[in-house]
Amino acid sequence: MVLVNTALIIGGGIGGLATALGLKRKGIDVEIVERMEQSQVYHVGIIVQGNFLHALGRLGLAEKAIAAGFPYDGFHNYDANGNFLFSQPPIYMGDGDFPAFLGLTRPALHEVQLDAVREEGIPLRLGVTYEKLEDLGDKVSVTFTDGSTKSYDIVIAADGVNSPTRKLLFGDKYEPAFTGQGVWRYNIPRPADLKDMMLFRAKPGGTAGLVPLTKNTMYLFYVGGESGNPYFPPETLAKELQDRIAVYKGPIESVRPHITDPKLVVYRPLFATLVREPWHRGRIVLLGDACHASTPHMGQGAALAVEDAVVLAEELTTAKDIDTALSNHFNRRFERCKQVVEGSMAIGAHELDPNDGLDVPALFGRVYQTLAQPLSPTAPARSSLVQEPV
Ligand SMILES: Cc1cc2nc3c(=O)[nH]c(=O)nc-3n(C[C@H](O)[C@H](O)[C@H](O)COP(=O)(O)OP(=O)(O)OC[C@H]3O[C@@H](n4cnc5c(N)ncnc54)[C@H](O)[C@@H]3O)c2cc1C
Repeated sequence: MVLVNTALIIGGGIGGLATALGLKRKGIDVEIVERMEQSQVYHVGIIVQGNFLHALGRLGLAEKAIAAGFPYDGFHNYDANGNFLFSQPPIYMGDGDFPAFLGLTRPALHEVQLDAVREEGIPLRLGVTYEKLEDLGDKVSVTFTDGSTKSYDIVIAADGVNSPTRKLLFGDKYEPAFTGQGVWRYNIPRPADLKDMMLFRAKPGGTAGLVPLTKNTMYLFYVGGESGNPYFPPETLAKELQDRIAVYKGPIESVRPHITDPKLVVYRPLFATLVREPWHRGRIVLLGDACHASTPHMGQGAALAVEDAVVLAEELTTAKDIDTALSNHFNRRFERCKQVVEGSMAIGAHELDPNDGLDVPALFGRVYQTLAQPLSPTAPARSSLVQEPV
């Protein structure tokens, strides 16, 4: 039984677009508002894994995402001098049918999702958000910034880490906290022999990485301590990134001279939050980073948002009433999200203090075991984690 006929989604990012598709395919009339007038998806890459592809596959988009990116199976670890340490065997988390990892540019992923939204004829209003949400018990009345008003059976806020709707529902209780680290990224040409991710660890300090994105492109990232969350004037970004990776030899040393255009450097300080109580109030519910924003250390933020979308669509078409559906959604999602948020933050803290005793491979093993569990209780059991030598 479909519990709602109409839904408004706030936010046209990874989670919002996935939710729109999930609901529409269950026969729900859905609309999206995105406050940006134009796509603000920045050009650098994203790393996703088998569970992301599994969830995206439930929306019919896994193959398109794979075709738009660069699938690979594992990653190789090196010290700061470029000496090989060990290879991480591939961990298959999506029925074993999907590659362990996929690197793709954010615009490529956005286009895959947007194409599907357009094909489904889902209205997406850009440059519009809500001014007022009023939960009337049997529907939510929405006043938009363009002056229009409309009522919906449910409102789903996928409005990101700084979610205004989270503030509306929970006040300042779950304000995201700066984790002490920032991430720097830059796209560069991919040498033909770079087919897996390469990670370079300097201790203590940061991790630099090279990630394949397309046939011709890879990206360099550097994650490290940024004490006090400093502001960097835009024109200084290339030099700041160059300075941070100057300690690395080997492949990072050879890509360093490519970092020339400060406008193409993407820097983000890292913030995290986790809403530790049901993510809804009445007929308004949070989804994705709005309720569980993690740092990128496990490469799982996008996967969690798309998984949320799949589970929410399932609950809204199977539970006995809306409150049960939204409570079930929280209960099915919380532990998975909690492990990723807390695990990612623990790895970040370990990068800042390598003597904190954290066993990082064991932590990854525990979290990946959880992520390999089926998304739906009725789904056939997924093959357990498969590890093979790289
Ligand atoms: C530096 C960095 C690197 C990362 N790398 C990875 C990675 O490699 N792999 C991975 O899986 N994840 C990664 N993530 C996390 C990932 O980007 C997020 O988890 C994911 O984007 C969450 O999707 P979302 O839809 O919840 O939020 P978002 O993608 O942030 O989308 C939110 C959308 O809502 C819109 N919005 C906000 N407020 C309003 C409003 N009031 N009205 C209307 N619209 C609004 C925003 O404009 C935005 O379009 C990374 C994050 C960071 C910071």
